[in-house]
Amino acid sequence: MARASYTCPCGAVLRYKQDLEKEPGTTVPSWKCKDCGTPVPGTVAEKIKHQHPS
Ligand SMILES: [Zn+2]
Repeated sequence: MARASYTCPCGAVLRYKQDLEKEPGTTVPSWKCKDCGTPVPGTVAEKIKHQHPS
């Protein structure tokens, strides 16, 4: 399976679960860039959050 990544407008490349920050308190989890807090599109975040550096 191809690895997903997302380049945030702040310049951070999000590849792994720890690059995301989960936004709590909502029924559907939303995810943000850990560096700047910009929301990450859900479809991309769903892939990234399953990825870990190995
Ligand atoms: Zn960012």
